[in-house]
Amino acid sequence: GTTLDGKVALVTGGSRGIGAAVALRLAEDGADVALTYQGSTELAEEVVSKITAMGRTGWAVRADSADPKAVRGTVAAVAERFGRLDILVNNAGVGALGQPIEAVALEQIDRVLAVNVRAPYLYAQAVVEHLAEGGRIVTIGSCIAQRVAFGKSALYATSKAALTGFTKGMARELGPRGVTVNLVHPGPIDTDMNPGDGDSADFQRGFTALGRYGTVAEVADAVAYLVGESARYVTGAELAVDGGFAV
Ligand code: NDP
Repeated sequence: GTTLDGKVALVTGGSRGIGAAVALRLAEDGADVALTYQGSTELAEEVVSKITAMGRTGWAVRADSADPKAVRGTVAAVAERFGRLDILVNNAGVGALGQPIEAVALEQIDRVLAVNVRAPYLYAQAVVEHLAEGGRIVTIGSCIAQRVAFGKSALYATSKAALTGFTKGMARELGPRGVTVNLVHPGPIDTDMNPGDGDSADFQRGFTALGRYGTVAEVADAVAYLVGESARYVTGAELAVDGGFAV
């Protein structure tokens, strides 16, 4: 690919799942890619090796999204090391499904909101000074933000629905600088967080129009579109990549 040649991307949660697929896809399209992770050092380094094998520069940074200092430090370090920053993909997130409202502890509410909501905001805040005309912010939401199809999901739905306001607010404010801000809502995607052979997989599959789980590559395709030149007039948008879950 050549479309992202010379650009630098930062992908949060790039060691596994959707984030790893996005990091590899952006490298395939020509970008140098920094990725964050929380604990999976070996997996993160494997992703970096694959990026290197494509002839691009990769860098893995251990940074807990719940830690504001780590977030700001990561952005500063990436901008310094690569000399620029063009694309932010807010992907790192924690699941919070299956617990009735009464069972959700205060600490869990704080943790989920810190990782799924506050971190994307802090990352965006930190990258803004580095983004030039043509800059891109893409965040990974969830189909649950658009259709809460089952119970025991209010905390997760709260965290993902907040990203709509985040995306629209950022799009409005950064538009005059030529920076676009968009949101991707994946449906059930086969990852460690939501295995396609898990206990609730058939249940989730049943809510989709296509009757199947999606793949990480299918989400990466959507992100690649939004960060590319083809999507230059798309901002503040929510793109469902959910097999029709929210239909
Ligand atoms: P996985 O659990 O498979 O992977 C999560 C990734 O995020 C890992 O790289 C992990 O790092 C990283 N991560 C998690 N917490 C933190 C943290 N506090 N700080 C830094 N990195 C962190 O998740 P998915 O790939 O399935 O999900 C990715 C995103 O997509 C999430 O925002 C999720 O909510 C969303 N999503 C997923 C769906 C699905 O069905 N899979 C559906 C809809 C949305 P490490 O390996 O070090 O732990």
